Amino acid sequence: MIIFATIITGLMIGSFLNVCIYRMPSEKSVVAPRSYCPTCKHRVLWYDNIPVLSFILLLGKCRFCKKSISLRYITVEVLTAVIFVILVKELGLNVTTVIYMVLSCGLIIATFIDFEHQIIPDEITYGGMILGVIASFVFPQLHNTFNRFYALRDSLSGLILGGALIYLIASIGTIVFRKKLKKIGQESAMGGGDIKYMAMIGAFLGWQGAIFVFFLAPFFGSFVGIIEKLRKRADVIPYGPYLSIATLVVILWGDRILRKILPY
Ligand SMILES: [Zn+2]
Repeated sequence: MIIFATIITGLMIGSFLNVCIYRMPSEKSVVAPRSYCPTCKHRVLWYDNIPVLSFILLLGKCRFCKKSISLRYITVEVLTAVIFVILVKELGLNVTTVIYMVLSCGLIIATFIDFEHQIIPDEITYGGMILGVIASFVFPQLHNTFNRFYALRDSLSGLILGGALIYLIASIGTIVFRKKLKKIGQESAMGGGDIKYMAMIGAFLGWQGAIFVFFLAPFFGSFVGIIEKLRKRADVIPYGPYLSIATLVVILWGDRILRKILPY
């Protein structure tokens, strides 16, 4: 029953995340107006706005102009539900899990926007930093403590260290790839968005978590990504997606992985 409710909640929230992913990069409001078809601008009817189901019933096409609806919509809905279910299964249903669900929403929005536009909106990064710090103080159990000030210290040190680590690697990358960057007219190997993004993740996970995510992220292809990107396109490297995956892995299985690597 809990799992079923989690799936439904995940699908519905995923549907809202789609709105954020579509509207945030162009600075449009995420609450108003009601959803509309990006091609014919026709308003989406409420019964055509049911997660997954409507997509299948409409065969992935707009009811009015018959233009294909991006597969991203159903992907984000299902992904949100899947992540929510795994969080509940692994961590149980408690305040910490709910906070991680909120963080996951930020990760999903940032990842999909980063893929498409190579930016991570400030609403997510700054908003997430503030939320992470407040959540740590109000719910210190997020950092495995009952002491609000320890939790706050963990959160703030995570924020600073997270940002600093990416800043450092970006600076090194800029020096190492200086010639290449100049050729493609790029100033820095990494966008400021990634620095803020990692700071936000640190605010939720604390400094240990931030270090862990930082070292885990390259395993998800960033190294390959950096080289590929510098070779092919002038874009800033989308490092965000790898940070997102690493963050989820650390939240879910961080303890288990640490116990495997550190024998004590
Ligand atoms: Zn349409």
